[in-house]
Amino acid sequence: MPRVLLIGWDGADWRILDPLLERGDLPNLKALIDRGQKGILRSTIPTHSWAAWPSFLTGVDPADHGVYDILETVPGTHKQYPVTYKSIKERTFVEDLSAAGKTGVYADVPLMFPTPDIKGKILAGGVLPKGRPYSHPADLADTLEKAGVPWVINGMSWTTYRHRPEPYLAEALEITGKRIRASEWLMDNSDWDLMASVWVSVDRTQHALSNYVGPDHPDYAKNVTTPLAAKVRDVYKQLDDAIGSFVSRTREDDLILFISDHGFQSCDRTIHMDHLLKQFGYLEFSASNVVFGPMQWGPVRNIARKVYDTLGLHGKVSLPQSVNWSKTKAFTSIRSTGEGVTINLAGREPDGIVDPGDFEKVRDEVMDRLSSFVDPKTGRKPVKAIFRREEIFKGKHADTAPDILMEPAEGYSLTHAKSAIEDADWVSGDHRPEGVIVAVGPNVKPFEQQPMLIDLAPTILAALDAPGTIEHTGRVLHEVVGGATVTKATPEVAIPGMPSDAEESSVSDTEADEMEEHLRGLGYLE
Ligand SMILES: [Zn+2]
Repeated sequence: MPRVLLIGWDGADWRILDPLLERGDLPNLKALIDRGQKGILRSTIPTHSWAAWPSFLTGVDPADHGVYDILETVPGTHKQYPVTYKSIKERTFVEDLSAAGKTGVYADVPLMFPTPDIKGKILAGGVLPKGRPYSHPADLADTLEKAGVPWVINGMSWTTYRHRPEPYLAEALEITGKRIRASEWLMDNSDWDLMASVWVSVDRTQHALSNYVGPDHPDYAKNVTTPLAAKVRDVYKQLDDAIGSFVSRTREDDLILFISDHGFQSCDRTIHMDHLLKQFGYLEFSASNVVFGPMQWGPVRNIARKVYDTLGLHGKVSLPQSVNWSKTKAFTSIRSTGEGVTINLAGREPDGIVDPGDFEKVRDEVMDRLSSFVDPKTGRKPVKAIFRREEIFKGKHADTAPDILMEPAEGYSLTHAKSAIEDADWVSGDHRPEGVIVAVGPNVKPFEQQPMLIDLAPTILAALDAPGTIEHTGRVLHEVVGGATVTKATPEVAIPGMPSDAEESSVSDTEADEMEEHLRGLGYLE
C-alpha cells in the first residue's frame, strides 16, 4: 500500500524559492520538481497560519471550522484566548485516518495541541503552553530525549530579536536542526502510513528578513550579495537537506507532497488597523491610553510583549489596546494579520453601539474608507481587496466571522505598526494567498484546476484509501491521486464542538421540548 510523505514549509512562496532553485541552493526540492508537478496552492482568507492549518486539517474553509484568528473570543465577552485543536469545530482527517486503522505521524503541525488520541504519533505544533504534555503518546517527548534526539517546542520569536538577525538565525537553525533529527528518528521508528511535518523557520525568517530573500523587496538587490543574505539562505538549505533525508526514506510508489499554508510578500510599510480605524473616527481607545500616551504605554507594552513571547506567540498578535467600546463603531477582529474588521453591533457584541438598522450603512462607510485609503508617503493604497463577510463565508460558523475581510496590497502589512501607518521596522514580509505545492507519485499529472489548501485533507484520505466522515469543501486532487476517491463513513467519535448523531437521537423531540421548558423554568433560557 502506498504511503504519503507530506512536507510543509510554513509561508513558502515561489517568488522566493524560484531564485534559490536557480542558484542551485535547493537541489533536493529541484529533484522533487523534476520528478513531479509544481503548482500554486491557494490558501484561505484570512491568509494566516491559524486559519490555514485548520483548513488543511479539515478540508473545509474557516466558516466551517470556525477558526479565524490566533485568538478566539469567549462569546458575550471581550475575553480572548489562544486557539487550540479544540477550537477546530469540524472533524479532522487526522481522526478519520486513525479510525481507518492508518498510522499517522505528525511533527510540528500547528494547532494539534491538545493532541487527539489517535493511532500514531504527534508532536504538536503552533503555540504551546509550557509545562503541558504536547506529544502523543504522552511519553513520546521523553522517548525522543532518551534516544538522543530531543524535541524543542516554540522558539523563533522573531520580534524579540529586533535588528539582531544573527542570533535569530542561529536559534532558527539550532531548533530546526533538532526537529529534523527527531523527525528522522520518528520516520525510522514508526510504521507510518502518513508522515507529515511542518517547518516554520521559513515563515519566521521571511517576516523579519524578506529584504534578503524576497525579490519584491526594494532593498533585495543591494542585500542579496551580502554575507547576511548567505546566512538567511542557510535556513532554506537546511530544510532542503531535510527534504533529501526524508525522501530517501520513501518507497517508489509513495506519494510525496510539498506544500505551504500560504505565500509571502515583502513589505516596507505597515499599518495598525485599530489606529487607522481611530484615525477614520470609528474607534476610540480607553482613557488609560489617552492619559498615559504611547510613551508611558511603552513599559506596559514591553511586559505584555514578554508574556506573549513566553507563550511563544512570535509577535503575531497586536497587543490588546483597551478600546472604549461606548465610542467604538468598528474594531480589528483578525489580530494576527489585521485582515478582518468587525462592526460593534448592538445586540451581538457585548458592548455594541451600532444599531442593527444602521449596520449596512456603517459597514459600507468603513469599507469605503479602508479601500480608498491612500498612504500619504507613497501615494499607494494599502488595501488591495476588500470583501463583505457573506461574499467569502457561507459555512455554519460564518456568524462568528469578521464583517469585513481584506487582502493587503504588495508592499504592505496590515499589522505590526505602532501607529496608523508607518515604515516597516524589523518586519519586511507578510502573508499572501498564493502558496506552493509539489506532488510526486505514480499517479501525478499536471494540475488542470487550481489546487487549494482545503483539497489536501480529502486528497490524503483518498491516497490512503481511508473513508472521510465530513463533507469536504475541497476536492480530491485527481491530478495527484488518479481515480482514488473518498468514501463516506459515520464518525465513531464526536466531532469537537458538535453533537454527534448518537447524542442527537438520544432524546426525542418531545423530550427536548420538555427539557427546554425545564431549562426555561430554571432561568437558563428566556
Ligand atoms: Zn507568518
